[in-house]
Formats: sequence, C-alpha cells, structure tokens
Amino acid sequence: MFYNCHIHVFKDSDVPNKFLPLALVKILRTKLGFSIITRIFKRINPFTDKDMFDRYIKFIEVGKLGSQRKIFEKCKIFYPDNTQFIVLPMDMAYMEAGKVNRPYEEQIKELSGLKQIYPQVIPFLHVDPRREKILDLLKMCVEERGFKGIKLYPPLGYFPYDEKLYPIYEYCQENNLPVIAHCSPYNPVHFKGKKKKLLNLLSKSKTPLNTKRKSRKVLCSYFTDPTNYKYVINDFKKLRICFAHFGSEYFWEMFIHHPDEKNNWFSIIRNMISEYENFYTDISFTLNNKKFFSLLKVLLSDEKLRNKILFGSDYYMVKTESDERRFGLDLRAFIGEEYFTSIAINNPKVFLGSK
Ligand SMILES: [Zn+2]
Repeated sequence: MFYNCHIHVFKDSDVPNKFLPLALVKILRTKLGFSIITRIFKRINPFTDKDMFDRYIKFIEVGKLGSQRKIFEKCKIFYPDNTQFIVLPMDMAYMEAGKVNRPYEEQIKELSGLKQIYPQVIPFLHVDPRREKILDLLKMCVEERGFKGIKLYPPLGYFPYDEKLYPIYEYCQENNLPVIAHCSPYNPVHFKGKKKKLLNLLSKSKTPLNTKRKSRKVLCSYFTDPTNYKYVINDFKKLRICFAHFGSEYFWEMFIHHPDEKNNWFSIIRNMISEYENFYTDISFTLNNKKFFSLLKVLLSDEKLRNKILFGSDYYMVKTESDERRFGLDLRAFIGEEYFTSIAINNPKVFLGSK
C-alpha cells in the first residue's frame, strides 16, 4: 500500500477569476479563448518565465476536465493500484482574487462523493479561519464524510497561529487528525487584496517583520514561514504538522550554493523535523526537479530525517503528465526500495495516525 500524500483535484470553477494574471482564468475557461490564447502565447510569451506559463496552461487544461472524478482518474493511472491519495481541496474565497464560481461547500460535497467511488481517496479539509462555521464544516466532514485531516494555506492571508484556528487545532488534536501546511514562498497563489489590508493582516505577526519596500510575494511569504508553527506546536503538543514542499525549489537551490545561509527554509525545516517529534515535511512539487534527487537521497541516509519525510507529487500543479509518471518511477528507482518504503508507506501511516 503506497501513499501519495499531496494531490489536488479541484476544478476551474473553484478558482477565483483573478487567480492568474491577465484575466487568464476567465479567458481560458472557454474553448475558443483557450485555443486562441495558447496559439498566440506559444509564439509571443508575455511571461519572463516560460515554465510558469506552461504551468498555467496545464493548470487550466486539467482544471476544466469537468469533474474532480475525471481529474483524479487522470492521476491515479500513474501509480500502482494499491496507492492511496491525500486529496487537498482549496478554499480561495478569501484571497480577494475575485469571484469563485461555485461555493466551497459544493467542492467539498463533490470530493466526498469521490471518496464514495474511490475509497483510496483520503480527503483533507482546507481550513481558512475567515470562513464562518468552519469548525462545524470540519466536524461534519470528519464525522460523516471520512475526511482525515486539514490543509492550511497561510499565504492567502492568515498566520498559522491565528486564534480562530485554535478550536480547529483542538478538535484535530483530540481526534488524531494531522495538518498539511503549504510551506513554500513566492508562488503566485497569495492574498491579492489591497496592500493596506495586507499590511493590516501582517500586523498580527508575533515576530517583528520588515515590510518596507517588500514585494507582495515576499510579504505573503511571511504568513507561511515555517518558524510560525513553533507557536502552534507549543500549544498543541500532540498535533502532527507537515510542511508541504519542504521549503521550495528556491531554497533547495540556495542551499546547494550557499549551505551556510541561516534564513533558508530548507535548512530551517530540516532542523525542525529533526528536533520536534510532530513536524513532518513532504517533497511535493519541489522534487519534481530531478536535480534535487541526490540531495534528497543524502538526507534520507539520516535516520531521524528518513522518518519524517513524506512522498507527495502535487498533481496537477506540475507541468506535464510525463512529470507525474516520471516522478513516481524515477524517484523510487533513484532512492531505492528501502528509502521509498519509508517515505511512501511507513511515514504516511504514522502521519495519518493509522500506525
Ligand atoms: Zn499543493
């Protein structure tokens, strides 16, 4: 029994209109718009980062397949039949990126239905503390619909130690439910509202922040800084928390060139998962870049770290489908069966509380 601890199957209608730059969401949603835009952009690329644009196209292409079931079925064929998948929904109603076309409850209802069809789906609930009655929704999902944990996405505009999350953590701790927290900086999914409001949200920080002349991406990364979780774990000692994406490609690259840099999330997470019993990390998205396989393998030779790293792919946020297949196969072959068993079988069981 393998586990992919981090995938997404939400649809384009779960994404707010201004989620991508240049109103791409709205345009790409229509068939005509999609074919025109992809044709034009293949020749003239408005993005400095070609990869980023390809990712947007892939994102929309998969997102508009029509149902979470279709999106999931496209993913599962790349993995052995006995693979279980932690599926992470997204509540993007409070990031101020425009209207989300269908209510979050609908997305969750559809995801519950997917679990009925495919028992290998392990749904988590994305908790945004700004959503009203979120605790009630969580209780219902756990008690009636087989949800097994929660997902946090702080760059949307909240700190993990937000007091509104405390009843949620309490419930999670009591019911042995783990937390997966997005933990990479500078990506395009973050709070898009007014700068003044963003600064106001950041003023709730427990640590002093330098907000002068900082870009929005940097400002939003403050929310999701891994060290913020020390406050949470201090108050909820039995809560298991996974830092998704192991700090990001950006910080892995930085570590390779400047290993002594102190403020590197890769190093911070590595130290935190080693030091604290209940901190974990997953390799989703970041390890899709093959050049980091060696560093991962070296980390896995350390027994403490080996027990705290989870296998996950971040389907369908990665660029192409072959990446999904290659990721599972190539990574497994590269690190070997023993290490793969740790990250894809043993650790996920412990993290999920089933062992
Ligand atoms: Zn993800």
